[in-house]
Amino acid sequence: MAGQSALRVVWIYPDLLSTYGDQGNALIMAYRARLRGHEVERVDVRSDQPIPAQGDVYLIGGGEDRPQRLAAERLLKDDGLARGLEAGGAALAVCAGFQLFGHSFYDDEKGTQPGLGLLDVTSVRGTVRCVGEVTAEVDEALTVGGRPLPRLTGFENHMGTTQVGPGARPLARVRSGNGNGAGSGVDGAHQGRIVGTYLHGPVLARNPALADLILGWVDGNPAPTPAEDLWHDRLRAERLAAVGG
Ligand code: GLN
Repeated sequence: MAGQSALRVVWIYPDLLSTYGDQGNALIMAYRARLRGHEVERVDVRSDQPIPAQGDVYLIGGGEDRPQRLAAERLLKDDGLARGLEAGGAALAVCAGFQLFGHSFYDDEKGTQPGLGLLDVTSVRGTVRCVGEVTAEVDEALTVGGRPLPRLTGFENHMGTTQVGPGARPLARVRSGNGNGAGSGVDGAHQGRIVGTYLHGPVLARNPALADLILGWVDGNPAPTPAEDLWHDRLRAERLAAVGG
């Protein structure tokens, strides 16, 4: 974001991909960026509009198979996201968005579909629907203020299962729920400045440290966001208690 006046949060295709409150990720990202002293410009990009290459943080959410396929088809014809990431932008991709950031994913009507290849992950059709609460311990390689991130809490609902290749690392070790698939033991992936996860909730409302991690990449300040309201701690405590911690 060097030389730019506002931190630009780009929400990709809210008309196609936004389930289980994913819009909250845009709200929390913008809110915490402001707490860090940034002016924020939030840009919601509908699926018939071009993706700006000047984004600082790109957000993409979850969705059913059909809108997911349509989103992938459109994004494959638009290099704005890839250029934005090459220029130092960061991204959070949730569920369908996570799958389509990978090499390929499965559509129930048309089978295997090409993804964007931004993350070294591949998704296929699972045998059971993964639905319910998830808790997971974040990869210790990721830190905010020099400390590991608190346990993740979120909600998942997907048929796809995802394999993480050697170019990426799993985002977290699953304690309860499924994440990348029953028995996978992990959720999501991270690679460079991209974080992918199956967690809705919205994930940033339940895990604001994840927003701080991404904002730290973008503004170069690794410290946690100075936040006085701690409502998210109550939300986290309640959701973690619901699955026995
Ligand atoms: N359509 C994908 C699946 O079922 C993603 C679902 C979602 O984003 N909630 O695997």
